Amino acid sequence: MEKVKNIPLMSPDITEQDIKVVTDVLKSGMLVQGKKVAEMEEHLAKYLGVEHAIALSNGTSTLHLALITLGIGPGDEVIVPAFSYIATANVVELVGAKPIFVDIDIDTFNIDSHQIEKHITSKTKAIMPVNEFGLASELTAIIELAKKYNLPVIEDSACALGAKENNKFTGTFGTFGSFSFHPRKAITSGEGGVLVTNNKDLADKVRILRNHGIEIQNGNMEFVAAGFNYRMTDFQAAMINNQLERIENIITKRQELANIYNQNIKNPKFKKPTVPNNKLHTWQTYHVVLDKTLNRNEVITDLKNKAIGTNYGAQCMPHQQYFKKKYNLNCEELFPNSMLAYTQGLALPLYEKLNSDDINYVAQIINTL
Ligand SMILES: *Cc1c(COP(=O)(O)O)cnc(C)c1O
Repeated sequence: MEKVKNIPLMSPDITEQDIKVVTDVLKSGMLVQGKKVAEMEEHLAKYLGVEHAIALSNGTSTLHLALITLGIGPGDEVIVPAFSYIATANVVELVGAKPIFVDIDIDTFNIDSHQIEKHITSKTKAIMPVNEFGLASELTAIIELAKKYNLPVIEDSACALGAKENNKFTGTFGTFGSFSFHPRKAITSGEGGVLVTNNKDLADKVRILRNHGIEIQNGNMEFVAAGFNYRMTDFQAAMINNQLERIENIITKRQELANIYNQNIKNPKFKKPTVPNNKLHTWQTYHVVLDKTLNRNEVITDLKNKAIGTNYGAQCMPHQQYFKKKYNLNCEELFPNSMLAYTQGLALPLYEKLNSDDINYVAQIINTL
């Protein structure tokens, strides 16, 4: 009988060393926001070349605190891409502001930077580009535009740790850069996030708000704000720290695997992702767009029957129930590329545990569809 490979969409690569550093923390008795969190923050800040890295409970809480510390709230508008993971728009709603959706470029799945300016009004308080699937948005252009209007940029770089534009890391272009360590990302601690910035005042505010509003004043603990509990545990930080040691290998492996898809997918009904010359893609997701002659959900089922896990990559956010009810936007007309990516997009398996034969196998099956 022919041996069938079972290739799920994702499977985090947790090494024996990752497990050891976690158990070491568990044995130490110091579980939350201790030495390991401080070490990881320092390590990540050094890797990215930023002044401040602040560990938080997940990617969503990093975006939430970025908006809060910038003073964004009711009556304000924040520009976001229409196509992203839903958290990008949810956090804008959570602070009482209004997300202003801008369509994406279908080649990169990132916000169409040429369409941003026309959406800027007197109410605009920030631009929040997403570095989708591990690829930088047009960050240099976006920063230039933001400077012209004196607006902060919050980079949602949840899935793009290690990605670059013009040799500069994503997350370090804007006022804030946000990262997630969810198991779908290249480095994971189960849950976890880090917010980075070069602005000390903002960093101090984030540190206070993540920990119940506590500030140490002259050696005394004072409660100076109505804060959250958005802390990270030390065992999560130890895992992230350990994986940061091998991040270059992780990215290289992902690039090798993505190249095999690039070379071996020959089915013209599968549009492959493009990478602009000045960018380093980390391939958190290998995302293709299916020709309209294919029914995406049927393709997912066909591949599932062959034990290959695939799924849609992200949402057209204004098309989701909550946003549809609240803003009633005609998504087909306003965000055609986001709708195309949402309805015809497909994320393929790509992670460190796979090898070139596995990727070639998936490509060959795709070529028969
Ligand atoms: C994963 C992701 C988030 C949310 O991160 P969590 O750690 O799951 O909260 C936000 N934005 C984007 C673009 C993401 O991919």
